[in-house]
Parts: sequence; C-alpha cells; structure tokens
Amino acid sequence: MNSYDDRPWLGRYADGQAVDLDPEFTDALAMFRASVAGRPDTVAVKYFDGVLTLRDLDELSDAFAVALQANGFGRGDRIALYLQNVPQFVIALLAAWKAGGIVVPVNPMSKQRELSYLLADSGATVLLCLEGLYSAVARDVVADTDVRFVVTTSELAYQSRDDERVFKGIERTRHEGTSDFVELIDAHSGGRPEPVSYDVDDVAFLTYTSGTTGTPKGAMNTHGNVTYNAQVYRDWCRLGPDDTVLGVAPLFHITGLIAHIAVSLLIPAPLVLAYRFEPGVVLDAIREHRTTFTVGAITVFIALSNTPGVTRADLASLRTVYSGGAPIAPSTARSFQDSFGIYVHNVYGLTETTSPSHLVPPRVAAPVDPASGALSVGVPAPGTMVRIQDDNGNDLPAGEIGEIVTSGPQVVLGYWNKPDETAHALPGRQLRTGDVGYMDADGWFYIVDRKKDLINASGYKVWPREVEDVLYEHPAVREAAVIGVPDEYRGETVKAFVSLKPGTTATPDDLIAHCKERLAAYKYPRGVQLIDELPKTVTGKILRRELRKRSG
Ligand code: AMP
Repeated sequence: MNSYDDRPWLGRYADGQAVDLDPEFTDALAMFRASVAGRPDTVAVKYFDGVLTLRDLDELSDAFAVALQANGFGRGDRIALYLQNVPQFVIALLAAWKAGGIVVPVNPMSKQRELSYLLADSGATVLLCLEGLYSAVARDVVADTDVRFVVTTSELAYQSRDDERVFKGIERTRHEGTSDFVELIDAHSGGRPEPVSYDVDDVAFLTYTSGTTGTPKGAMNTHGNVTYNAQVYRDWCRLGPDDTVLGVAPLFHITGLIAHIAVSLLIPAPLVLAYRFEPGVVLDAIREHRTTFTVGAITVFIALSNTPGVTRADLASLRTVYSGGAPIAPSTARSFQDSFGIYVHNVYGLTETTSPSHLVPPRVAAPVDPASGALSVGVPAPGTMVRIQDDNGNDLPAGEIGEIVTSGPQVVLGYWNKPDETAHALPGRQLRTGDVGYMDADGWFYIVDRKKDLINASGYKVWPREVEDVLYEHPAVREAAVIGVPDEYRGETVKAFVSLKPGTTATPDDLIAHCKERLAAYKYPRGVQLIDELPKTVTGKILRRELRKRSG
C-alpha cells in the first residue's frame, strides 16, 4: 500500500490545517436549515433578474414538499428532475428531501430512449420537467413508467420576481394530465411538511453514469457524500459569504449538484444560474453579478476566451476557478492565464466520488507530467485514500502507473439496484475508477490513460456501447464500433466504423441522422466510416485499438 503519512496533503488543507469538517452536517437538508436559520435574508439564487433568498427557497420548497406529499410522494420515493439550470431545480431538490425522497437529475439533452431508461431504472414516481421537454420528449414516455404525477414548469417562471406576468408564469402552456409547478406552490403556500432527518448513508441523489462499463446506472450519492464534498470545496477554496458562485456546469451533473447547489447553500452565498452554456449569457452573469467562484468544463473557459470583445475586466471578479471532468491542456491553461490573469485549477473526480477526489491547491500552479505532457489533477482531497493498483489489485509505489482506486467519505454507496456492478466497481467501497495514472514523489497525481472505453467530449461522457446499440437498430447495419477521436475544442469526439449488410445501402449521413434522432446531442457520431469488415481478435472481439490506429 502506498504510504501517504509523510505527505502534507493527506487529511489536510492546502495551508497544512488538519481537516475539521463539521459532524453536524452529515445531512444535506440539515445543512440548508442551518443556513436558513442563520441568514434567512441572504440571496440564495439569482436567475436573470430573479432573486430568491434563503427564506424564499425555504417557503417555496415547503409548499412544493406538501404538494408532493399530497400526491403520495414519501420516504425513499424518487423524483426525476428533467430541467435546465433553473431555480425550480433547487426548489424541487429541497422539497424532495423535505418530503423524504431521493432526487434523480436527468440530462435535459436526453431523448426518449434515454429518459425512459432512467425513469424505469430509478422507478421514479414523480417527474418535474420543462414544458418544452414535456411536449417534445416526456409525454410519449411516461405512460410506460411508474411515474404517476407529472409537474411541468416554464423556464421563465422565476426569471424575475417583480414582473408578476412572468413570475406567475402566464406564458405557461397547459398539458393534459400534468400540474403546473407555480400553481401547485401557490395552492400549498404556507404549508409545512412533517420534519424529516437523514443519516450519512441515506441516499440524496441517484446520478446516472455508465461508470466503467456501458450500462447507465444510478450512483447512490448519500447525504454524507454531499455534505462532505460541499465542505471540501468551501474549506479548500476558502469560500465565504462574500463569494458569489457562478452556476455554469449543468445542474444535473454531479459537478453542478455539489460545486454549485450544495456549496452555495452551505456557505451560504448566492448562486447565479446560467440557464445553459452560452458564452453571452455566462458573460452577462459574470459582469452583472461579479461572480467569484466557479467550477466548469475547460471548454467553458475556452469558449469564454474566444468570445469577441471579452476583456480582462469582464472576468476580473473570478477569484477562484476550477475545471473538472476532462483533461486541461497545459497550453490552454497558460493562454487563459495570459489573457485574463486567471489560473484555472484542475479538479478530478467522478460521479461515484460525488465530484472532487483530487484538487489542485488554490493559487498553486499544478506541475506537468514530463512524459505525457498532462497537467496534474492535483492531490487527494482531505480524508481521501488513493491507491494505484496493477491489474491484479496489487498496490504500486509512487511513480508507477496503474489504475486509480479511491476511497473516502465522498465515495458512493454503490449503484441503485445493481449489486453485481457495485461489487465489481466498488469492492469494500473502494472505487476502481477505470482511470490510469500515477502519483509522483511529491504526492501529485496524473492521469495518463483510461482502462474504460469512455469517450470524453468536453466532460460529457459517451459510452461506445450506447451509440453502437443505436447503430445496430438501423436495418442496414451489420456491425458497428464506436471510438473517440481527438477534437480540438471538445478534447474528444465520437466516430463510428460501420459495415453494412449485403444488399443494403446507407450513407454515413443517413447513419448520423439515425443516431442524432435517438441520442443526446453530444453522443451522436460526428463521423461515420464505412468499411467492409471490422478488425477482430481470433475470438471475435472488435479491436478498438486497431480502429483508433486507422483513424490516425
Ligand atoms: P463523470 O462521472 O461524468 O464525472 O466522469 C468521470 C470521468 O471524467 C473520470 O473517470 C475521468 O475519466 C474524467 N475526468 C474527470 N476529471 C478529470 C480531470 N480533471 N482530468 C482528466 N479527466 C478527468
């Protein structure tokens, strides 16, 4: 086993202080309640011109919790949130916890097959979704699931608190068989749900990921996981009430849930929600609200720096910036710093580590791996034990390359209803990350490869199998294999190799269109290459390595 006893980082913050996380905050709802009790008038959420204080959030989530309970939602039940970055996300999340339930965030880019899988697998009984997503996607899906209560909402509902017309959601479209979010809240205003409390190991979120294999599964992020990593961000980055959090990562992803929602509720500090990533919207949010802290994919910072007219002064309020989910090219980090005077710190983690397991200490420049040129992902978060293991599960010493295996208070309980997958990926609650890397003599970690077949398109993860399954549904496809190919902006993008059934025809464009219709936008192949025969091993396994070579 690696010994980290002499490493200054283990169990300590960047300045050498020992970890002193508050044991009271093992329950994410208790964390929120402490903030409301202490500072009810603190602004909690800003969304365009709309402002909600902690007290507003408390009252609105009380009312929605009562509405949920009145519709049969209770302890351990699941609610799916199929939303962009809107205030309703935060209100509904708190309400679900107040009613005793578990939150299942759904990527708003999901198409019907993706949404129906998540609803069925999680057994969600309530669905809250944006009106547009209901009519375009969800309406035809819910009938075949356990969902019995559908609530729709307009993205404009909390855009402004002064404009009654918008706030009351007059622009909303009514859909048969659904209830309206604002109306439900109005109807139950002043109500209070029965108090609930949670243990560290009670599940707060089911966050869907394919982990190290192809099947999407709900990682069970517990209340203990959530409160731990919220405290890690707050204390590691020295965040306080003077900070304003820029919510630019998608809220459905673990980064948004922890680095935006949980951390801002804990501090407490305002969370400025960017509806979705559009450089103009994000720039306006930074300029207007002088946001100080954010965590986002590196493509966000690349896009910001490529936006015409953006100046150093525009971004000057951003004191602490972290980027996670995908590698940062050292040249990108350097050019962002040269242009804007902002150092983008690397943070590494997985859905299964409830966001960070490794971070670069604030205001420290991460070293670069001399062999691969990769920027270090940082050092283990306080209280985190990290091993590097060979294929047989033996621990390797510093400097040697192997699989990163992580354990600590941020590691999930396992996967929802998937004991075999849990036993495989999380034996003894030690997470086999599928990432390959090493630790140097000073305790810095580097990721140099992956054991898993994942394609990382600027932090959005694509599993070849899911795309291949869709390709196989096309009548002309005999065999299909999907790989990641380098992409200047996204880091990697999806490419498919396909052989066709004799006597059939399909062009690459036909196959791309087929996938585009059925998969979230970041998953469909940007290129399809038709070949006669896919390269295989003697046992018939498709050789992805060979395809990668062919693709240059
Ligand atoms: P997700 O579950 O979507 O958070 O994806 C986790 C995966 O993203 C990890 O297993 C890594 O492969 C990749 N990843 C996350 N953070 C980083 C980082 N800072 N550098 C390189 N890869 C990363």
